[in-house]
Amino acid sequence: MSSTANDYIESVRRELAVRNPGEKEFHEAVTGVLDSLAPVLEQHPEYRDFAILERIVEPERMIHFRVPWVDDGGVYHVNRGYRVQFNSTLGPIKGGLRFHPTVSASIVKFLGFEQIFKNALTAQQIGGGKGGSDFDPHGRSDNEIMRFCQSFMTGLYRHVGSKVDIPAGDIGVGGREIGYLFGQYKRLVGSFEAGMITGKGLGWGGSLIRTEATGYGLVAFTREMLQTRGEDFEGQTVSVSGSGNVAIYSIEKLLALGAKPVTFSDSSGWVYDAEGVDLELLKEIKDVRRGRVADYVKERPSADLHTDGAVWDVPVDVALPCATQYEIDGDHARTLVKNGVKAVAEGANMPTDAEGIEVFEAADLLYGPGKAANAGGVAVSALEMQQNSARQSWTREDIADRLDSIMQDIHRQCVEASEKYTGRPDDYVVGSNAAGFVRVAEAMLDQGVV
Ligand code: GLU
Repeated sequence: MSSTANDYIESVRRELAVRNPGEKEFHEAVTGVLDSLAPVLEQHPEYRDFAILERIVEPERMIHFRVPWVDDGGVYHVNRGYRVQFNSTLGPIKGGLRFHPTVSASIVKFLGFEQIFKNALTAQQIGGGKGGSDFDPHGRSDNEIMRFCQSFMTGLYRHVGSKVDIPAGDIGVGGREIGYLFGQYKRLVGSFEAGMITGKGLGWGGSLIRTEATGYGLVAFTREMLQTRGEDFEGQTVSVSGSGNVAIYSIEKLLALGAKPVTFSDSSGWVYDAEGVDLELLKEIKDVRRGRVADYVKERPSADLHTDGAVWDVPVDVALPCATQYEIDGDHARTLVKNGVKAVAEGANMPTDAEGIEVFEAADLLYGPGKAANAGGVAVSALEMQQNSARQSWTREDIADRLDSIMQDIHRQCVEASEKYTGRPDDYVVGSNAAGFVRVAEAMLDQGVV
């Protein structure tokens, strides 16, 4: 490795730490990408001449705003709203909104940075960004959620739009929140701009398969990885974490492909179901009753609830982390490897910490990072935007086929870039980072120093 590329990377990393003090998650996300790029920078010295790295790690715009609201008891609250518009080289900014008490500038920047490369891999002409609030929706009434969303959009509306920045859901922001956010935007601007947000209801501009897309896409990407080693999902045991849309629709697709998903989780604990997950029961509890996974074991004799350890303690063929960041640490990763896991693919964003990634990379298994494996969600968001522009609603089959071919294409890009920059086909970390980065870097060169 020539020292020039590494020196360049190191100087950008040092400068980033000085400019963004204390932002651990953001530093880690940037380091994860930069660490993959030495061979890319060696082949492209022009990236250094045109300060591509310095520009790509600095958001185009970071918006902080106040979100005041009143709860049902008449008590006033003030939360903080964020939107990072990280990079618009490939298209208008695109990325979700997260409502969770852990949301901070660092978290939004890490997610927004990852989103640049994820969105590039989808080849759907969308830039990358992210937003959210430290608001905790847990236990809040429908009316409180509505008032919060209205206040949030009042702070945000002047910065977004269908050609500028198109938000969507993420943790804590689902169909209900998207409805309230869109309603307030429409009221504030006085026009029905369906393409200003994605994840909309099917009756007013939403797309079929959007809810299922991240889970379906994750399983499609993992299927492609397994195929490279002559395997498929038939008869494979799978651990899934989380119990939101990503987990539920991964489980649905796994069952359709003949696999046996055996776990899921939420903050009340994790469930192991020796008979395989009863999807109808899980959907009824999470989607209809808005209940906890602890309720599942009361109605399912083959299932146990656990509150210590983690789903990663269960020996499985494939592991799909679909809950949140840093849910797999070095110890979890070592347990999975010791128990013979063949593939790990990330439905959540950055669920594996830096040590866990090292463990997976040192082992002979297939490891699919989130920016490639979970790109199906934002890909179908882009299809929703296309349907909105054309004033059309495509069929389920049409969207499912498009999603599947986008995931196959992302897999192909990862393998090709891995071969090109590492000499082996299965380094999906370098593959996804390099393929996404080169697409953005080339377009940045085309557009000049802006
Ligand atoms: N929040 C999702 C993600 O992490 C979807 C974003 C979108 O649809 O814009 O990719």
